Amino acid sequence: MTQPLGLLLRQTEMRMQEILQDFSRIKRYAQLLEEENGRLKEALAALTREGTGGAAGTRAPAGGQLGTLYRQGFHVCHAAFGSLREQECLFCLALLRGSSRQSPDFGGQEK
Ligand SMILES: [Zn+2]
Repeated sequence: MTQPLGLLLRQTEMRMQEILQDFSRIKRYAQLLEEENGRLKEALAALTREGTGGAAGTRAPAGGQLGTLYRQGFHVCHAAFGSLREQECLFCLALLRGSSRQSPDFGGQEK
């Protein structure tokens, strides 16, 4: 043994505290994910209800359903699809604006 027992115990205690902190962080994250998952399920159920008449041959305009999802507070852009949106997202708006056309064009002002 090169290290005194007291030092080893202290180091181990510190490591355990770090692990505990990581663990509670992961727990909090899992909670958030569960909440978000619940909201996504509700949103999906709402979208499915809206799109009545079977999904097989239906060709709803993408902007419509994506627009609904966006208005319900979710990202529809590629970068953050499905995650909760706390404010307007330029990427989402560009996607929704350009969903009827082919070219994504940012109509807003740039910095
Ligand atoms: Zn977005």
